[in-house]
Amino acid sequence: MTFEELKLAPAILQAVHEQGYNNPTPIQAQAIPAVLAGHDLLAGAQTGTGKTAAFTLPMLHRLAGSAAATSKFGNRGVRALVLTPTRELAAQVEESVRTYGKHLALKSTVIFGGVGMNPQIERMKRGVDILVATPGRLLDFNQRGEVHLDMVEVMVLDEADRMLDMGFIPQVRQIIRQTPMKGDRQTLLFSATFTEDVMNLARQWTVNPAIVEIEPENVASDTVEQHVYAVSSQDKYKLLYNLVTQNDWQRVMVFANRRDEVRRIEEKLVRDGVSAAQMSGDVPQHKRIKTLEGFREGKIRVLVATDVAGRGIHVDGISHVINFTLPEVPDDYVHRIGRTGRAGSSGTSISFAGEDDAFALPPIEELLGRKINCEMPPEELLKPVPRKH
Ligand code: AMP
Repeated sequence: MTFEELKLAPAILQAVHEQGYNNPTPIQAQAIPAVLAGHDLLAGAQTGTGKTAAFTLPMLHRLAGSAAATSKFGNRGVRALVLTPTRELAAQVEESVRTYGKHLALKSTVIFGGVGMNPQIERMKRGVDILVATPGRLLDFNQRGEVHLDMVEVMVLDEADRMLDMGFIPQVRQIIRQTPMKGDRQTLLFSATFTEDVMNLARQWTVNPAIVEIEPENVASDTVEQHVYAVSSQDKYKLLYNLVTQNDWQRVMVFANRRDEVRRIEEKLVRDGVSAAQMSGDVPQHKRIKTLEGFREGKIRVLVATDVAGRGIHVDGISHVINFTLPEVPDDYVHRIGRTGRAGSSGTSISFAGEDDAFALPPIEELLGRKINCEMPPEELLKPVPRKH
């Protein structure tokens, strides 16, 4: 299938082609026609499947086809609202909106907590068609009268399962109450999993939704080559250092289970001359945004993250994901390795199984439905790290 067959507006097709995309991914091929037909949508898709474009493209098409809304304050009213669980994801979704909408005259902005309010308020005052936001800050703005949601035509809930996990649903509920009634708005709900709780939300917030689903296992097993190295805890850092430097890997994500581990790994890499940065709850918001930019631009070779901080990171061209420690929750494994092998490109994951975390492997294999071969790392990968002085 081609994007042309989806009958998107020419200005949107042009932007898609400029990104170098010729064929829709499976989630796009299924979701876009349903959204263009005006249906509500319940989509089961993980990061890496092209889910952002699956809602952004038809949303832009719909907005481009009708005039801007004028709010009661005389400026442009918000016609599309996208809610995401994390700031990183909000920023990245808005970037996609800009990319795919660059030949359209629509205005978008993003609002999230952890940074100053005034620039965000200024942009809202100038008028916005498409607003991407995290629930807490948006509710704050809404209650102060800085954001009005009564003209919302399209509402997207991205990573709804994550919003549930993070306890955002009461806030999301209050926000949705400020938008037109279901049936008078189009509601698109995306979630990696369809748990009972997610289905409950879908029942409350959508009307006869079209349901599309991409199997999560496909993401993990089809495009990511997975390895496990048996390595003692004290050799893990050596192995990491040698893997990255001997192979000259340029864009690598390393996951560890705890913030202090993340910090220690990053500090050692920097000490040993590898450009690295950390992403965890300890890192302030403005620093995280800069870090992501640096990683995207290739200035940072190795990004070390916790599960929570790493979850929202969508950077193309990550060639390797390294699990310095195996996650205790098997789902986290799938999310981690989903940072590579995105949208058709291939990637590799390497997990370090040591005496403290090898127990986590069998439940992961059970989730994947197959065994992952456990190898001994070759001798040269366990060489001591050369000390500068
Ligand atoms: P997402 O699941 O939205 O995070 O998308 C994963 C990545 O796939 C994004 O970074 C896009 O750049 C890329 N992508 C989205 N749609 C396509 C497509 N149709 N063809 C190739 N790459 C795509």
